[in-house]
Amino acid sequence: MSPSLSLANGRSYLAIPGPSVMPDRVLRAMHRAGPNIYGGEIHDVVAGIWPRLKAVAGTSQNSAIYIANGHGTWEAANCNIFSKGDKALVLAVGRFGIGWSESARALGVDVELLDFGKSSPVDLGRVEAALRADKDHKIKALLTTQVDTSSSIKTDIASLRGVLDAVGHPALLAVDCIASIGCDEYRMDDWGVDVTVAASQKGLMTPPGLGVLWFSDRARERCRGNDLRTPYWDWEPRANGTEFWQYFNGTAPTHHLYGLAEALLMLEEEGMANVWARHRALAGAVWAAFEVWSKGNPAIAMNVANARDRGCSVTAARIGGNDATRLREWCETQAGVTLGIGLGMALPGDAAWHGFLRVAHMGHVNAHMTLGVLAVMEAGMQALDIAHGEGGVLAATKALSSAWVQGQA
Ligand SMILES: *Cc1c(COP(=O)(O)O)cnc(C)c1O
Repeated sequence: MSPSLSLANGRSYLAIPGPSVMPDRVLRAMHRAGPNIYGGEIHDVVAGIWPRLKAVAGTSQNSAIYIANGHGTWEAANCNIFSKGDKALVLAVGRFGIGWSESARALGVDVELLDFGKSSPVDLGRVEAALRADKDHKIKALLTTQVDTSSSIKTDIASLRGVLDAVGHPALLAVDCIASIGCDEYRMDDWGVDVTVAASQKGLMTPPGLGVLWFSDRARERCRGNDLRTPYWDWEPRANGTEFWQYFNGTAPTHHLYGLAEALLMLEEEGMANVWARHRALAGAVWAAFEVWSKGNPAIAMNVANARDRGCSVTAARIGGNDATRLREWCETQAGVTLGIGLGMALPGDAAWHGFLRVAHMGHVNAHMTLGVLAVMEAGMQALDIAHGEGGVLAATKALSSAWVQGQA
């Protein structure tokens, strides 16, 4: 029997937009016997988490941790922000904005959804018109994604704040940063954001299982009496409890907390400005490769035309036909790299579904990982006879080296 060649053995790389790669430091921090939850070290670990968690979001206000994934954290936000029958204005540029609106609607919130499709950024003019039309200020909160992971579209949060201010509308501003916190620049207090939602398994580099909410003092006051609040979701004791168990409304998620504490320390050591610059440079390498590949095959295209509107943590793209599925399978089985499925671009039963994929570049990623993914994709396209412009990897290396030169200047 002749051997069949696979180049997949060696360390595998999960390049999907969450869960992201867990640093060895995070894994080591979690690898320990269970702590005594009634006092001692775990209490100190949690006390150390709060300031670092706030620094990551750029806020000095309130933060709460839930034992939940992103969907759970959406629900946490909705239960605190709204009473039944309150009105929400939700901006969607992909599957995740819509998902947040569905959570709100199921809780009895009156949702007005502005859907901008799957490939276009938020149209601030339409947002302004919707806010101006709300003369009685019925809209209690505006919900949006910073980066929608399905489309990779980024929303300019500072400009959105500007629109609210220009209209003089008092709605709370709530932002889903699940795919962008610890990746894209984010300044909650500077940008006047009232509620920020995140989860542990993306830019925060910790296993799935923790949801994080940051909320402003203004939101804390305005939302105090809301009737959707249940003991488990209530953010008040989680953020401002007087006893340790109140932070988690029960048993603390001990090992996740050790992991999160270490991940936050890593972000602090690197510095948030450097973390954002690293993601920006790696994203630029990915985009440079796609630009070149698409020149040799009109079916290949990034989902978002303008780089200004792309998140720096994930790139959604079309390869065409069933080539995205073929390429993903080749990369995983032949080269040890798992790429993301295309989410929300076509229904899973639809043949077109096999034409989309996403490349993640979020969290614990560096130059050799991203260049490795791109080189593997290019090798896969060659091996599978998927037409593509030659030289994508070369363009990626040039983008990275020039980003580095500029960073030194
Ligand atoms: C991943 C993600 C979610 C959903 O998170 P889960 O942990 O899968 O529930 C929501 N919003 C955005 C922007 C995301 O990237």
